[in-house]
Amino acid sequence: MAGSRREAVVAGAGIGGLTAALCLAQAGWSVAVHERSPVLEEFGAGLQLSPNATRILDRLGVVENLGGLALEPEALVVRRARDGGELARMALGPAALKRWRARYLVAHRGDLLRALLDRVALQPAIALTLDSAVRGFAKGPDGRLRIGMKRGPLSLETAADLLVGADGLRSAVRERLGLGGPKDLVFTGAVAWRALIDATRLPAALRRPDTNLWLGPRAHLVHYPLRGGAVVNAVLVVEDRRRDALDDDGWNNPGDPAVIGFEVSNWARPAAELIAAADDWRGWPLFDRPAAPHWSAGAVTLLGDAAHPMAPFLAQGAAQSIEDAAALAHCLLANDDIPTALGAYERARAPRAGRVQSEARRQAGFYHVRGAVALVRDMGLRLMGPDRLAARYDWLYGA
Ligand SMILES: Cc1cc2nc3c(=O)[nH]c(=O)nc-3n(C[C@H](O)[C@H](O)[C@H](O)COP(=O)(O)OP(=O)(O)OC[C@H]3O[C@@H](n4cnc5c(N)ncnc54)[C@H](O)[C@@H]3O)c2cc1C
Repeated sequence: MAGSRREAVVAGAGIGGLTAALCLAQAGWSVAVHERSPVLEEFGAGLQLSPNATRILDRLGVVENLGGLALEPEALVVRRARDGGELARMALGPAALKRWRARYLVAHRGDLLRALLDRVALQPAIALTLDSAVRGFAKGPDGRLRIGMKRGPLSLETAADLLVGADGLRSAVRERLGLGGPKDLVFTGAVAWRALIDATRLPAALRRPDTNLWLGPRAHLVHYPLRGGAVVNAVLVVEDRRRDALDDDGWNNPGDPAVIGFEVSNWARPAAELIAAADDWRGWPLFDRPAAPHWSAGAVTLLGDAAHPMAPFLAQGAAQSIEDAAALAHCLLANDDIPTALGAYERARAPRAGRVQSEARRQAGFYHVRGAVALVRDMGLRLMGPDRLAARYDWLYGA
């Protein structure tokens, strides 16, 4: 729309919310980002940033800002947990750039947030307010949205043309849209244990610049180096129905290294060694929810985990929120009428995000099988070869 800038409120300064703010500002919007937390904690651990995400982050200048903090793995290596036998190897690095026209990177979530915030700071059209939780919204008498916020003890209100709920798995905006609240989340039966390990505590083979995946019965382990190789990020996903002691809303449930080590006690030595080298494990129960029939109403929409939370087995939650952000801005540029633009956004995104959600669910079954089924899986992986393995990711990374 020519003339004055229209105003958007983005609820949530996570990866999706900050990327959306950058994309909307580029598309000519004024953006007020409201983040519930009083500080943007650099919590979390490593993130794989696949080419479908880095392509967009590159255009926004975020990859440049990440600089040496992002690492480009040379390969994805898949191993059988029991004996460490290599099942598959897919070249990344230059091969990923050539095949999918963008780089495959790994980075610490805190470093990615910092790189996004540095770009946000350069954008006068974006204002970020911390300690400001979006609570609700209604249409005002002038047809614009009235958005209610809670800042400490204060209840505040602001007007905007658009509200984007990028407020994560337990989205308040989603609940207000009538699309289900936190009580509708479904525990997947798996807990992700995450740790950052000082690389000097590990043998050279475990420090290689690869993304490693170990497949065990009812569990899998992913590890890769971060921050120029100074630390190794490890995620051990274990099927475990007991989550009574875990805070559902946190990345920060402490885990007992001895109990976590027991999970892999019959795994090949390098995997067990890696697990033993970590002394600070943080557990995250994994949740899912059924796909929503729609994500938008009037001038309100959702993005990222708020719209389509997904199991981390394809490493795509953040990547899909980044894709959402770019698609939302594109649709708002192409359509002056906001509800029309949001309809186009949903049509563009729902089938793809839904496919990623269901493929991620299927992947859990594939990773955690036991006995004869695992033998068939392992044989299939061995026979597949690197090119056919890479081709399986074309629909995802090449988009
Ligand atoms: C073990 C594990 C490994 C993963 N690995 C990968 C990976 O390798 N690659 C990948 O792409 N993805 C990965 N993911 C998924 C990824 O972390 C998430 O999908 C991604 O962070 C979602 O981003 P988001 O911006 O939608 O939500 P969030 O990151 O949850 O951000 C939401 C923000 O909104 C704020 N907020 C909440 N409520 C309100 C409110 N009412 N008002 C204002 N602010 C609010 C929150 O404080 C938060 O800052 C992984 C997830 C897990 C669990």
